[in-house]
Amino acid sequence: MRKTLVAANWKMHGSKAFAEQLLAELNSGLKSGECSTQVVICPPYPYLGVVGEAIGKAMLGAQNLSEQPSGAYTGEVSAEMLLDCGVRYAIVGHSERRSLYGECNELVAAKYAAAKAAGLIPILCVGESLEEREAGKTLEVVAEQIQAVIALGLPNTWQGAVVAYEPVWAIGTGKTATPEQAQEVHQFIRQQLGEAGAETQILYGGSVKAANAAELFAKADIDGALVGGASLKADEFIKICCAAN
Ligand code: 13P
Repeated sequence: MRKTLVAANWKMHGSKAFAEQLLAELNSGLKSGECSTQVVICPPYPYLGVVGEAIGKAMLGAQNLSEQPSGAYTGEVSAEMLLDCGVRYAIVGHSERRSLYGECNELVAAKYAAAKAAGLIPILCVGESLEEREAGKTLEVVAEQIQAVIALGLPNTWQGAVVAYEPVWAIGTGKTATPEQAQEVHQFIRQQLGEAGAETQILYGGSVKAANAAELFAKADIDGALVGGASLKADEFIKICCAAN
């Protein structure tokens, strides 16, 4: 049985005081609720320390990492450094990294490999744009994103990894994929992962909120969520976590 997992991607939001306050609220909410979902919090890099100290039952994640192990790479942060700071998960290939910072499938795959090599759990994000969906290319695009990782020929490529399906058109737009649309792609992703697919947690991301979480999580291949905007509100995020029980 796959456990459910809900990950918060704070993106570039908040402040130190905000992080402390939100963690305090999450801790009391997650402790008092009967919530057995795995919870991961991915704050901006500078707040990893403050969030890590107050992490409670949740686990710490990063929003990005370098594909390089160390060296003269100004502004970059390596997998080992993250691990050293108590980080367990790393988001890899978020669509904002792909579209705004030019991360191609090959670079994303290299970051995935770096995370795995260091013992971090990568959360590999895949997903199509609106144009690609309307052109009927959703599955083709997602397959290419996954194949770039498979092409590296890593040992046990998907073991100890998480995949997140985030249709670009649903991110931050208020437009959620219907549970049926999401399920179709999740099932396809699971097939692409081969034997390991049965064990791999596949999360849905894109305008997840308390009001739509339960119907998404009811689908056979949706194992949780990667949550942006709604993860910045304690009440809302706790409800999403509990809906994934
Ligand atoms: P929203 O939940 O704000 O749509 O963001 C989704 C996302 O990008 C999570 O990584």
